[in-house]
Amino acid sequence: MSDHLFRLKIYGVRGSYPPTTDNGHTYGVNTTCLRFDIEKHVVIFDAGTGIINLGNDLFQEMRQADGKQNYKKLHFFFSHLHIDHLMGFPYFLLNYIPDIEMHMISPRILTYSLEQVLEFLMSPALFPVTLNELPSRRTFYDFSENMVALFFDHGFEIHPASEAAKIKNWQGKVSCLRNYTHPKGGAYIYKVESHNGKKVVFATDVEGFVGNDQRLVNFARDADILIHDAQYTLEEYAMFQGFGHSTYEMACAVAKEAGVKKLLLTHHDPKHGDELLAQLEAKAREIFPQTHVATEFMEFAF
Ligand SMILES: [Zn+2]
Ligand SMILES: [Zn+2]
Repeated sequence: MSDHLFRLKIYGVRGSYPPTTDNGHTYGVNTTCLRFDIEKHVVIFDAGTGIINLGNDLFQEMRQADGKQNYKKLHFFFSHLHIDHLMGFPYFLLNYIPDIEMHMISPRILTYSLEQVLEFLMSPALFPVTLNELPSRRTFYDFSENMVALFFDHGFEIHPASEAAKIKNWQGKVSCLRNYTHPKGGAYIYKVESHNGKKVVFATDVEGFVGNDQRLVNFARDADILIHDAQYTLEEYAMFQGFGHSTYEMACAVAKEAGVKKLLLTHHDPKHGDELLAQLEAKAREIFPQTHVATEFMEFAF
């Protein structure tokens, strides 16, 4: 391992709901969840069912006690609050461990805050343990385009973007772009940067359009990895235009114009099995050769 740690592991790649194993042999069945390790900080994006495996991994690593990561202080960023991006949260093992501190960073969607939505998801009619009954602790933060989260050795700080630009000694940086193509409130696209210039852009639940989203193209410019929604085939898109998801052609067009090094297609439709996803990957590579279908447990170290 190098002296500096900047690592991404993918725990959930599906959109909408987890498919049957038949459709998930190769690429996985769990809905959206990513883990970044930025130096000693564990930073989680979305809490789809993939977070259940992530919780088990973190628990094992904590028990081994040789982990250098700060497992007691976790950081969460949410793209938006649709259920496929939250449904794993009540089953996240570390919720049930005292002394775990969770920093929950999310857009408000319509008039709803993340805290309100999680309280609803874990209300007595829906789940046996309420948010307030969990032994772990949570702090909630609003986040918006003019804010930046910076990670330092001691923890993270949220600053206005103009001030953050003057701060130099950070280890990792998270910024966002609000996308309005996703129904009823949009979704945040996030950029995660290491202090030595590596960049990963996570654009889930976005719908492309003719000529590409130029704000996204600029935001993702020269990224090492662009993770982009590609839920639909072209035929499906004709039926689901306006549902807030893309085709591989849309994802490839953005990747090409932004000059990213690698494109990961994600938010796979639960009806898409191994064969179709492999075909879509092959077709996508004709447009943008460095394309991969995002797969559970894929890891990238920078
Ligand atoms: Zn989704
Ligand atoms: Zn959604």
